[in-house]
Amino acid sequence: METTAVRVALRIRPLSEKEQSLTGTSDCINYVKDEPQIFLGNDRAFTFDHVFSPNDKQHHVFTTSVISLLDRFLDGNNATVLAYGQTGSGKTYSMGTGLESFPDSESQGIIQRFTNELFERLEHKKNDTTFQIYVSYLELYNEDIVDLLCPGSSSTSSSTTTTTATTSTKKDETKQPAIREDIHGQIYWTGVREMPVSNKHELLEYVRKGSLSRSTGSTGMNTSSSRSHAILSVTLKQQISEQCTMDDQQQSLKRLVSKFHFVDLAGSERLKRTNALGDRQKEGISINTGLLALGNVISALGDESRKSSHVPYRDSKLTRLLQDSLGGNSHTLMLACVSPCASDYMETLNTLKYANRAR
Ligand code: ADP
Ligand code: MG
Repeated sequence: METTAVRVALRIRPLSEKEQSLTGTSDCINYVKDEPQIFLGNDRAFTFDHVFSPNDKQHHVFTTSVISLLDRFLDGNNATVLAYGQTGSGKTYSMGTGLESFPDSESQGIIQRFTNELFERLEHKKNDTTFQIYVSYLELYNEDIVDLLCPGSSSTSSSTTTTTATTSTKKDETKQPAIREDIHGQIYWTGVREMPVSNKHELLEYVRKGSLSRSTGSTGMNTSSSRSHAILSVTLKQQISEQCTMDDQQQSLKRLVSKFHFVDLAGSERLKRTNALGDRQKEGISINTGLLALGNVISALGDESRKSSHVPYRDSKLTRLLQDSLGGNSHTLMLACVSPCASDYMETLNTLKYANRAR
């Protein structure tokens, strides 16, 4: 399992108190003991790499499915965790991109646990290694990029400065966020802040600030967080000095750069899986381009027969942003979140199908 580039975990949240109090509300998921398999209703079986039941705590989710990605990240490889599912299914709770900056330790999400573990591991690195850590936090909303660490720099926000513009210096201008690719195929962004951080508190403070501007920023209507993707990226730059030969005084420097993306995806409820174009024209539903493209990229990566063929990264900004962190040497965890509530049956079924396709 550790060797596959894309793993899919299913997480079923507990029924809320409100759901429990409603008469006639039932749980529509049946578990298979000791197997990562569930039944939706009685007849539809789905198997994943992991299944987390409503009783499984944040700590368990992290140690079972994310720690191996942290190991690889420290070795210089890129990694991505994607939280997928309908609004209210537990994506933000699992990822830890909520507004509560210091939740009780049991409720801490993947990002908090990752941050704690990362700095702990780095402290124990040998002293022939020096490192820097940078953090960026973006929101993708309708294919527009918003820098959550520098709200107001949306790639769509039109400049209102007119005559005063001539007096402002070049470096004061906020560049519009854009995605670029270097000659080595590494993806980088321009116009997006990469903040250096030296301890876990600084990193988590940026997570808190960014999450706050996600909910209150320029695109922050009530529905924004369910219709946008939030991408927190941690970049680790390491310099490891290596003795060339035993008696050689000269040291060579090995440089490693790795990225870890944490993606709290837009709510999947607007996604119509099949016949997207036709549906959109028929029903006038706005379909989340990113989620469709992501599904296509992940299924292309998982398909052995298509290994060497085309992976459609360019179909959305989401997949473009993550291009060098999905596939190749990168490892990806898709955390599919669902509600067990019978009234969410159709959305749960859609998520299970989407996640199943990713495997
Ligand atoms: P989403 O981000 O997918 O819209 P949330 O993460 O906001 O969903 O979760 C919806 C509600 O359910 C929140 O109140 C959250 O605290 C709660 N919740 C989600 N998953 C769990 C869980 N595994 N354990 C306890 N509460 C959860
Ligand atoms: Mg959310």
